[in-house]
Amino acid sequence: MPQSMINEILKEFILKKPEITELISGDYKKNHIKIFMLRLDEVHPVISGNKLFKLCYFLKDTQKSTHKNIITFGGAYSNHLAATAFACKKMNLKCIGIVRGEMPPKLSHTLLFCLDQGMKLEFVSRTIYQKMNEKEFINGLKNKYEDHILIPEGGFSIQGKKGAALIHPYFSDKNFTHICLPMGTATTFAGIVESNVDKSMILGFSVLKDYNDIKERLIQLNVDNFKKYSLIEGYHFGGYAKKTNELISFMNQFYSQHHIPLDFVYTGKMMFGVDDLVSKKYFSPGSQILCIHTGGLQGNISLPQETLIF
Ligand SMILES: *Cc1c(COP(=O)(O)O)cnc(C)c1O
Repeated sequence: MPQSMINEILKEFILKKPEITELISGDYKKNHIKIFMLRLDEVHPVISGNKLFKLCYFLKDTQKSTHKNIITFGGAYSNHLAATAFACKKMNLKCIGIVRGEMPPKLSHTLLFCLDQGMKLEFVSRTIYQKMNEKEFINGLKNKYEDHILIPEGGFSIQGKKGAALIHPYFSDKNFTHICLPMGTATTFAGIVESNVDKSMILGFSVLKDYNDIKERLIQLNVDNFKKYSLIEGYHFGGYAKKTNELISFMNQFYSQHHIPLDFVYTGKMMFGVDDLVSKKYFSPGSQILCIHTGGLQGNISLPQETLIF
C-alpha cells in the first residue's frame, strides 16, 4: 500500500500544520534552558492530538480490505473513542464502541459526541470489559458484527505505534535535546522513540500509577531497549484521570502565562512534571526541550464549570 494513502488520510485530519511555540518563562531563562511546545491540539478544530495519528494505519486497512466496520473500546470519557467516531464518520465507515461499564442514566459529553458522529455504543460490565483481549470475547464480537477491523483500547498496537511515528516529521528538523510527552497506553511514546533517529532523549511522563505495566507494554510494542528514553514517574496525581487542586491551579496559571490550554488527564500532568524537573535542575544548561501537546482537550468538559479559566 503506497505511502500516499497515509498522506491522504493525514490531509483529512490535519487541517493545520502543528506549530512549535516557545514557552517564555523566567524560570527557564534562569536555568539557561529553552522549552517549546508542539501544538498537536490545534491540528483540527473538532478533534485533535495524538489519537488521529494512532488511527491512521487502521483507517488505511479499511481501504484495502472488505472489512468496512471498525470496533474499538474505551471508557465514558475516552479521547480515543471520540477520535475514532469522528474519523469513521469522515471516512464513511461504520463503527462500534464497546464502552466500559453499565449504561449510565446520563451519558457523558464524550459518548454523546460519539453517538452524534454515528458510532454505535455497546455497554459492557467492567468484569466483561477486562476480558476484551481474550479469544472468547473477540469471537463473540466476530459473530455479532460480521467483518470488522478491531482497534485495541487507546490504539495500543504495533499499527498504532507506526501511526504515532508520523508525528516525528513535525519536529525532526530542529535539534531538541529532549522530547517530552505524556504516556497512557505508551503507544504514542513507542512511536516517538522508534522514529527518533536524532540524539534527543525521549521523556515519557506516566499518567498511570502502575509503573511496571508501562515496561510490560513497551515490550509488547517491541520498543528497543537500547533506544534513548527515560520513564518519569511521580506525576500521576493519584492515578488515571485523578486530579488535585494543585494540578488545576497549575493548569490555570499555565494558561495565564502562555495562553495554551492543557487537559487534566495527560498534558497538564506532563507540564507540571516538566516544570518540577526544571526546578530540580534535571535539565542541564543549554537544553532545548520540546513538549508534545497531545490534545485531549475535550476531556476538560467533564470538569465542573468554572474549574478552569479557559
Ligand atoms: C490518549 C492520550 C495520551 C496517551 O497516549 P498513549 O499513546 O495511550 O500513551 C496522551 N495525551 C492525550 C491528550 C491523550 O488523549
